[in-house]
Amino acid sequence: MRIAFAVIYILLSLALGICVCMARKSYRKIGKTVSVLVGLLIPPVLGNLLIILSGNQTVATIGCYIYFIGMDLVLSLLLRFTCDYCVIRWPRKIIRYSVYAIFGLDIIQLLLNTVFGHAFSTEAILVDGFNYYRLVPYWGQTLHRVIDYSVFFVVIMIFIVKIVRSPRIYLERYFVILATMLVTGGLQTYYIFSRTPIDRSMAGYGIFGLLIFYFTLQYRPLSLLDRMLASMASDISDGLFLYDLYGKCIWANESGIALVDIKNQQFDQAGELLISKFGEADIHEKDVWADTRTLNSGTEVRYYVFRKNTLTDEKKKKMGSFLIVHDVTNEQKELQRQRFNATHDPLTLLYNKEYLYDCIRDILKANPDEQYCVIFVDLMDFRLVNDVFGHAFGDFALKSVAKWLKEFVPQEGVFGRLGGDTFGVLMPVSDFNEDKVEEKLSQFVINDGSVEHNLLIHLGIYEVRKTDMDVSTMFDRAHMALSDIKEEYQIHVSYYDEDLRNEVLWAKKISAELPDAIAKREIQPFLQPIVDIKGKVVGLEALARWIHPKDGFLSPAKFIPVFERNGMIVEVDKYMWRCACEIISGWGEENKDLFISVNISPKDFYFMDVTTEIRNLAKEFNIDPARLRIEITETVMMNDIDNRMKKLNSLKELGFVIEMDDFGSGYSSLNLLKDMPVDVLKIDMRFLNRAKDDEKARRILQNIMNLSDDLGIASLTEGVETQHQLDMLCEMGCKLFQGYLFAKPMPLEEVERFLKNSSRDKD
Ligand code: C2E
Ligand code: CA
Ligand code: CA
Repeated sequence: MRIAFAVIYILLSLALGICVCMARKSYRKIGKTVSVLVGLLIPPVLGNLLIILSGNQTVATIGCYIYFIGMDLVLSLLLRFTCDYCVIRWPRKIIRYSVYAIFGLDIIQLLLNTVFGHAFSTEAILVDGFNYYRLVPYWGQTLHRVIDYSVFFVVIMIFIVKIVRSPRIYLERYFVILATMLVTGGLQTYYIFSRTPIDRSMAGYGIFGLLIFYFTLQYRPLSLLDRMLASMASDISDGLFLYDLYGKCIWANESGIALVDIKNQQFDQAGELLISKFGEADIHEKDVWADTRTLNSGTEVRYYVFRKNTLTDEKKKKMGSFLIVHDVTNEQKELQRQRFNATHDPLTLLYNKEYLYDCIRDILKANPDEQYCVIFVDLMDFRLVNDVFGHAFGDFALKSVAKWLKEFVPQEGVFGRLGGDTFGVLMPVSDFNEDKVEEKLSQFVINDGSVEHNLLIHLGIYEVRKTDMDVSTMFDRAHMALSDIKEEYQIHVSYYDEDLRNEVLWAKKISAELPDAIAKREIQPFLQPIVDIKGKVVGLEALARWIHPKDGFLSPAKFIPVFERNGMIVEVDKYMWRCACEIISGWGEENKDLFISVNISPKDFYFMDVTTEIRNLAKEFNIDPARLRIEITETVMMNDIDNRMKKLNSLKELGFVIEMDDFGSGYSSLNLLKDMPVDVLKIDMRFLNRAKDDEKARRILQNIMNLSDDLGIASLTEGVETQHQLDMLCEMGCKLFQGYLFAKPMPLEEVERFLKNSSRDKD
């Protein structure tokens, strides 16, 4: 029996030694604590070995010292290990150090036994003919046991609390250690009370050490792992299917079951169900496979990413395979939404400019033999539409144009919104039917249910010749073509050509030069005399001329329309009015019966307060308003009639004379004339030219003169070139004349000379 225990103790010590070595190599933090704890278990075992083997009192007593002191060390470390193992916070420093101090004192107390003999002694007993040395405890030994048992009790309590509080799956880990500790404690207690010479609990200590080593460093709670993995796999939103070695589905998670609607956990149906849903045999035939699939359920499109891979064991032997089906519908839709927003205009939902340009580049590249045209679609006076009818109506109008473009542009073409009130189109030239477009655009009615408005749309067309040209340049040219349409209301489509390009560039150039030209007086007023029936000069019309340093003499027919289009006419006119006032005031008493007529462009009324401007000028130069005549055209009355009528009335009240210029060139309306504060009717020379051989036109002319006479309006015919014309006009009762027959427009000095000569002639 003694030998048997000795062998057990030796084997246990060896086993513990191996565990110590292995624990030291562990990468885990707790490994160190375990190695020390297990290491400390060896001395008590060896101490007991000495006790049972020695048969000599001194050696047995030394064994006892090793045993008791060793136990103190084991218990002090057991406390620390318990905290680490049960993952609870270390007790506060003061408690920890107090525990260590108590054990320290106990060790000293035990060592002092060599002097005082207060703790224990040994006595020999004869068992089976062998002298065992049994322990005889005194109060020092009792104190030692009280300390050891108290700490042991605390450790046991910690384990019990942990077992109560932890999920069931963790019980194993705590329970086995607790049970070993209780058995060991029981054996120890038995040893104390039975006073047998052999402490059997030592075997328990040894086993306890081995278990600690196993549970802390070797044990993998497989059932825990299984359950965790399974619950995780069930919870993930991806569909997960597991296949055995033979390709049979053996398990699917909740999402997988829902995806293909597996009934009653019959996982082997999954294969068929997946194929019938996604129509894809590859899913099963291949072990490693990845692809995306779209599922169109009629009301909704869903997107899935499939990924299949093999599962192998540690030795890389195939165990089966798994399939993950990831629903990427939301990501895909978000992506599509972002892509749509980046390429489309949010209001009309047409392509935006950048994307349209990209598409045009692609189409041109892909069809090098097709002849295409680029169309710049411009909504005219759109700002006005917004101002007058409100932005909601403006938006509605833009959407209506977008709708029309969808019908108008063929499959082979592409279109989009370039910005604000402009759209862009590319289409084969052969598909563009100008007559049809003209017909549509002549009556482009926008009706939102409460407001109806005829939208004016112009198309500028550039026929693409060089496909490698910048798309923006193509649109610039198509845009340039628009400037050719001018004020003609029947024409909506215009084509780009090289002359036009030069014209536009020239217009840009002179626009940039204008301020300087005014400052340097390169623009000058030429004066053309107006004569009465006796041939006497009664006044003059101021007409602008640009003596350009490079381009030479520029007629207003060239530059006035440019500035009328871009609004710079205001600068020209203000300057011309000032010049007229300067001339009148410069004459002083000379020519004091003569008036000067100045031209007012319809655009002037847009950009300034014409009345105030002219009144201030007359005041500044202190001239009689009756000597400054104001020429307006009928187009002034095309817009904002009430307001403009008021302005003209106040000019008339201030004493200025108002002339209706170019009467007969536009939509001459006698009706309008009746209400307007007009003093003089200037009849357009083109009217006169037509009257030459057209009896009907002649009669109209006669009637106009009669009518103006009735209304108290003097009639003036301009463009009189021949004596014949003059005779006819005189016969009709015309009172005033202007034309080359009398004089051309002349610079001031020349006109002054002319006036002197003619007054001398008359005298
Ligand atoms: P308009 O106001 O009708 O001016 C009369 C035009 O007829 C002038 O052309 C004049 O030179 C021309 N003319 C006069 N008698 C005859 C004739 O017997 N036969 C022919 N064939 N033509 C004659 P001009 O000076 O070239 O001016 C052209 C137009 O430019 C003017 O037409 C006027 O609308 C505009 N314009 C000229 N100066 C100004 C200006 O300072 N401001 C504004 N807003 N427009 C101006
Ligand atoms: Ca005029
Ligand atoms: Ca005229």
